[in-house]
Amino acid sequence: MKQEILESGVFLSDKMDRLIWKLTDSGEFTVKSAWQRVRNSVEIDRVASVIWKQSASPSARHLSWKIYKNAVLVDSNFQRIGVMLASKCVLCGHAVESVEHVFIQCEYSVFIWRKISAFMWISVS
Ligand SMILES: [Zn+2]
Repeated sequence: MKQEILESGVFLSDKMDRLIWKLTDSGEFTVKSAWQRVRNSVEIDRVASVIWKQSASPSARHLSWKIYKNAVLVDSNFQRIGVMLASKCVLCGHAVESVEHVFIQCEYSVFIWRKISAFMWISVS
């Protein structure tokens, strides 16, 4: 086996193998180089920042995040991934069940948002 490897052109060395960190010229790991890599690869998402820093319950923040990412299990999202199904809003029965409809456009959602905004003394049009 060793002879086969030698004949294959692969260079073998007597030196011990070592890990090489590609983000520094020396190949040595530094926290600074790792931090710069992380900092440069993460885009700042201001909406995400607001969602995750609000003082709501974790489940409310999680639902907010799913709405923002359009990841709520509604019919339109199943249709988007190829699931063939007829869809109708279970509240009003007038539109396809989508995140926009269920949480914003549906007449029942509008009614609820108006009640909440009135309770919180917030004017909405
Ligand atoms: Zn509806």
